[in-house]
Amino acid sequence: MRAAWLVLIVAGAARPAAAQRAAVPDDFPGITRCERGRAVSRIREDVRDSLDRAQLEAHEAVHRAQAAAFPTCEAFMAELRTARRIIDVELPAYCAQWRVAVAQGADPAETRREFAWRIAAESGAMENRLDVLQRFERECAPA
Ligand SMILES: [Zn+2]
Repeated sequence: MRAAWLVLIVAGAARPAAAQRAAVPDDFPGITRCERGRAVSRIREDVRDSLDRAQLEAHEAVHRAQAAAFPTCEAFMAELRTARRIIDVELPAYCAQWRVAVAQGADPAETRREFAWRIAAESGAMENRLDVLQRFERECAPA
């Protein structure tokens, strides 16, 4: 099901319970979507941990900045049609999230691998997850 990725940029893993059906926005702890031409982010209310919230805020802020470089938010989202483009926009977002996580004490290598796997899964390029990890290592330096 590709359509959801055209309108949603998500951060974090879907809830395990969501595995049996198509994902909906509430499955994701953080999302950025278009509202009347502008990118708007939302962190799910039940994400209470301030460290988690800080990571998600950093991630979604990158997507808002990416969308702002386009004439409209919808034009930005419409571009996200290929795994390659999704990886291109998710890498910097997860990089910002990774920097926050590492500053919070997360293990750099383990977290990088986890995020690379997530990017691969979200883009539908799981078979290329090692390439995604290599790009992450190359393009995401510590802050
Ligand atoms: Zn994202």
